[in-house]
This record gives sequence, structure tokens and C-alpha cells, in this order.
Amino acid sequence: MAYIQGEDRTQGALFPVSLDDLIPDDHLVRVIEAYILRLDLQQLGFSKSQPKATGRPPYNPADLLKLYIYGYFHRIRSSRRLEAEAQRNVEVMWLLGRLTPDFKTIADFRRDNGPAFTATCRAFVQFCRRVGLIAGELVAIDGSKFQVVASNRKHITPNKLKHQEAALEKRIARYLAQLDETDRSEGGESVNRSAVQAALRELETKKADNQTCQALMEAQGLTQHVLGEPEARKMRTAAGKFVAYNIQSAVDAAHCLIFHHEVTQDGTDNQQLEPMAKAAKAELAQSELTVTADAGYSNGEQFQACEAAGITAFVPANRSVNPTSDEVTFFGREDFVYNAEDDQYRCPAGKVLTLKQLNKGARIYHSAVGDCSTCPLKPQCTKAQRRYVSRHAQEEAFERMEKRMRAHPEMMVKRRSIVEHPFGNLKQWLFGNGRFLVRHLRGARAEMSLAVLGYNLKRALKVLGASQMRGLMS
Ligand code: SF4
Repeated sequence: MAYIQGEDRTQGALFPVSLDDLIPDDHLVRVIEAYILRLDLQQLGFSKSQPKATGRPPYNPADLLKLYIYGYFHRIRSSRRLEAEAQRNVEVMWLLGRLTPDFKTIADFRRDNGPAFTATCRAFVQFCRRVGLIAGELVAIDGSKFQVVASNRKHITPNKLKHQEAALEKRIARYLAQLDETDRSEGGESVNRSAVQAALRELETKKADNQTCQALMEAQGLTQHVLGEPEARKMRTAAGKFVAYNIQSAVDAAHCLIFHHEVTQDGTDNQQLEPMAKAAKAELAQSELTVTADAGYSNGEQFQACEAAGITAFVPANRSVNPTSDEVTFFGREDFVYNAEDDQYRCPAGKVLTLKQLNKGARIYHSAVGDCSTCPLKPQCTKAQRRYVSRHAQEEAFERMEKRMRAHPEMMVKRRSIVEHPFGNLKQWLFGNGRFLVRHLRGARAEMSLAVLGYNLKRALKVLGASQMRGLMS
């Protein structure tokens, strides 16, 4: 049986085919075109959005923005690959009217328009809000670390520098000893003196650079620094420690759209609940908001601040664990009754625990040694002479949070189903578990805005379909 045959390449067409004929009505590029047409690029802050009267005409920022949105939608992030797509991809040819900007023009546009990309991403969020894709009833907050351009080898600390300096000194001493040995030896030169001296000069230069680095870090009070990426920080991830940024996102439960994101330098999520929840509330322009996040966001002060701001948070309270052994689990904090009037705890044996000290905002209470030494419940309470119980400065906020979580255990399941989908998409699908392509916090912000815009566009298309979206945009 014969194979299916393609057309003869030299076959002429009776009716010339236009680019527009090749693009179906419900194609993504038509949606991108419709969306860009409704934007005021000057208001969004794009450079060259008003062409000058003289000089060589620049590319229209609208065309380059279309190219980037198309690229991030299709996991094409590199400027060289975008350049190639403009030359060979019919969809991009349609989108750009066959313009073929070179990779440098494409890269410069991304480098120069970071805040404008963020504004465009927000404009799309506002569009989604207007057409009902973002409900604002439940918001999940989560963070994920994305590696930066610089590798771990570029990460320095004062300790690392001191070790490097010591290693350099050892090598310098070895070379000097070689030169001494040569001077002393009777048979004349056994090593190449000029080569050793050149190597010594190089080592001395490295040592001087190292000392300058140490002095600068000390003067600026830095505990770590990444060469070429000074705003990045070394962060712990599931796959090890990497130089990265911590990306925070607020995701709406209705259709898993990311409606607010931040690129942060914090290695943990512990300080992020309040700023993210407040920013999400402002973005949605609501007087009240319900948010959920994982235990990494547990923070008594921020629980309280969220309550004061009209934000109901559902976060597992991360408390110190009750001491246990193989044989016995000791009484937990909940077994001790707090009396606010006396500022004392009463233990299961009815004895009083009084305030001993304050430690980093926590209040530490202890029992009397005399009470514990004769107590029949001691084997269930402590192995020490007396029992200690700590009370967080925002204990009431913790207790209210624990009560909320007990009343709504389903919140953690909901959180997972809402927030893990976007990060799975962004990190594994779009970034391919790779790094940012653009340096510095500014560049990472630009790239993340494009990535979030690409992700949100994909979600919106999935829910509404291209035809309906074009209709809503016109
Ligand atoms: S061991 Fe001390 S603190 Fe514990 S129940 Fe007995 S008296 Fe109370």
C-alpha cells in the first residue's frame, strides 16, 4: 500500500495563500493581537511607545511584546530562539507582520521594560477579574525558589573568602620555597624561574582581590554575596542549596489564576504571609479576604496583623514540639491551663507555673522543683527537675488560628489543589526546572511577569476558549 503523499514543492497555487488564511479564527495569536490592541503601552511604561520624529524608526513595542507573550506561552524564553521563531514560524510571522527583529533587539526590549511587563501582567489580571475569572473568595499563597543565572560557585561568604585566602597563602609559600630551593641548589636552575614568578604574581593578585572583597563585605555588613547577581541569596530547596530568588504567588481558587506575585530575596516564607495577603487584598479591592498557606508561613505577629486587616488566614500554626521518648509522650502545652489574670499556668496536677523569663518574644513559665519532685504525674510530664512551658507573644492569635484550622481541616487539601498547579506549570513546564535567563532582581521580575502572564493567558483560554476571549476583548 502506498504512503500518504505531500504536495510537490514546485506546485504553484491557483489562488495565492495569504498569511491570514493560514491562521484559524480561534487561534492563540489572534487573542494575543486583540489583547495588545486594547493596551495603552505608553501608560504601561514601555520605552519607545511614542516614536521620535527623526532618526531610524524603532520596532513598535507592541510587536516585541506580542513576540514575548507568544514565546512565554510556548516555553520559548531565549532571545535567540525568539529571533529564529520570527524567521520560520508562520504564527509569529502573522503576529509580527513578517518582522524579523534580531536577538539583541529582542533581549534589549526585555531588559529595558521590566516594570512595563509587570504592569501588563497586572492589566491582564484586571481583565480576568472583570470577566469573572477571578472570584476573590479563597486565595492560596505559596512560594517557590527559582535559580538565578549565577551558579553556586559565585556565592561567597566571609568564611569562604578566609579559606580561599589561606589556600592562596599556602600556594604562594610553596612557590617561594621552590625559588629558595633553586637559589640554594648547586646545579643552577632546576625550575623555570620566570614561570614561577609569573604564577606568583597571579596568586598575589588573586590574594589582593580576595582581601578587597573581604574588606568590602565587612564594610557593607554583608554575610553573603553572589558575584554578578548581588541581589540573589543562597536558599534551601528540596534539591539542595541554590542561589535563587523566592517567588511568592497569590492564586485565586476559582480557576487557579495567579493574580499577584512577588520576586523576593527571603530564603524562607516565614515573613511573607502578611505582605502577600495585604497585596492580594489590595489587588482584588475587597474589604475582606480569606487566604490559606502552608505551615512555612506560620508567624504569630502576622496572624494578628492579618486579622486586624480583615484577612481570615488558614495556616497550620508551627509550634515547638512537645518532648517525646520511645516509651512516653509528655503532656502538651494544651494540657496546661493559662490564667491571664495571674499570668500563670496551672499544670495537670493543679500546681502553678510562673513566668521565668522572656526569650525572643516568647514567655517561658516554669513549675517549682518541690512540686515536681513529689508529683505522681512527673513520668508523664518531664524528665527534668521541673517543667517548662513557653507562651508566644501572640499566643492568642496562634490559638485562634488553631481553632480555625480545627474547624476547617479541608483547607489544606484545597490549598494544595489551588496553588500547586500554577507552580508545577511555571517551574517544570515553562522553566524546565531551569534558571532565570536574565540577571539581577530587575531581570528576574521581568521574566516572572512574562511567565505569569503566559500562564494566566493559558488558563483563561482553557476556561473561556479563544473565540469568547476575543469577543470579551473587543
Ligand atoms: S511534674 Fe510538675 S508540672 Fe508536671 S504535672 Fe507534676 S507538678 Fe505539674
